Amino acid sequence: DAALYHAKDKGRNNYQFYSVSLSAKNPELLTLEKNLRYALERAELTVYYQPRVNITTGQITGMEALLRWQHPEMGLVAPNVFIPLAEESGLIVPIGEWVLQTACNQNKAWQDAGLPPLMMAVNLSLKQFRQPNLVETIARILEQTGLEAQFLELEITETTAIEDLNFTRTVLQELEQMGVYISIDDFGTGHSSLSRLQMLPLHNLKIDRSFIQDLTTDVKVAHIIKAIVSLGQSLGLRLTAEGVEKEEELEFLKSINCEDVQGFLFYRPLTVQKATEILYSQSTK
Ligand code: C2E
Ligand code: CA
Ligand code: CA
Ligand code: CA
Repeated sequence: DAALYHAKDKGRNNYQFYSVSLSAKNPELLTLEKNLRYALERAELTVYYQPRVNITTGQITGMEALLRWQHPEMGLVAPNVFIPLAEESGLIVPIGEWVLQTACNQNKAWQDAGLPPLMMAVNLSLKQFRQPNLVETIARILEQTGLEAQFLELEITETTAIEDLNFTRTVLQELEQMGVYISIDDFGTGHSSLSRLQMLPLHNLKIDRSFIQDLTTDVKVAHIIKAIVSLGQSLGLRLTAEGVEKEEELEFLKSINCEDVQGFLFYRPLTVQKATEILYSQSTK
């Protein structure tokens, strides 16, 4: 398992780690990739939902769809391990479409059950974002599930966004016209600047977890987060802090008027059953 854990521990660098096509050299990963081919048809994939919380009210304003692979022998395989393999092999395209379908369907089901409307955030990988028929696929999924576009938020990483800014802008403008919301994920890790992202039709910036992790130990990081929040807000964006685990972090984020938080301090990614229970209990409060 060493290789897998190694990949996992690399955290936000793991995409670089895989970019040399490790599955070609590592038999363990090759087996994993073969198994992944069947995961969809064998119904081994599931979507967990992590609530996003309004920092002042504590209310759940949205959910992020997070993919899980429940393998019969290997157990729960983490996305940091298999998403790069799915990306490399192209399997991310059908898998990602399935996630979109499942998450939109779920959001519609919650609305149909009378729960207050929520934003559903779905991650798009670089390869998915580059599919020529992405916009049509999203339109079709919205139509099939009956979810209104304004309740879907697509998350692309900062790195995906800046790879080809003109291309990104063209696609995002089409999505925005459809009414879908756009979020920049892992913000702060891609070495871009907000002045470059400003040309894109964005709604939300998600400050990468690595910043929140260092917040209480490195005063410079606190300054950086504060600057991101104020600059983002001056550009009309909503700010979400990822990976909030400690009360101290929350207090700081409140003090600088960050709108939303997502993190283990509030909720871990939840099964659909658990997420539904929590939404019901919140709506009757
Ligand atoms: P991400 O999009 O940045 O998602 C946030 C990750 O941070 C999730 O990990 C979540 O469980 C974790 N997290 C949230 N709050 C905390 C916290 O307080 N502490 C800690 N330690 N972690 C926290 P997860 O679910 O393992 O997903 C990892 C990555 O895999 C995601 O990072 C995303 O890049 C990718 N991923 C997950 N699902 C999908 C998907 O459906 N499609 C694509 N393309 N990528 C996905
Ligand atoms: Ca995300
Ligand atoms: Ca993120
Ligand atoms: Ca991440």
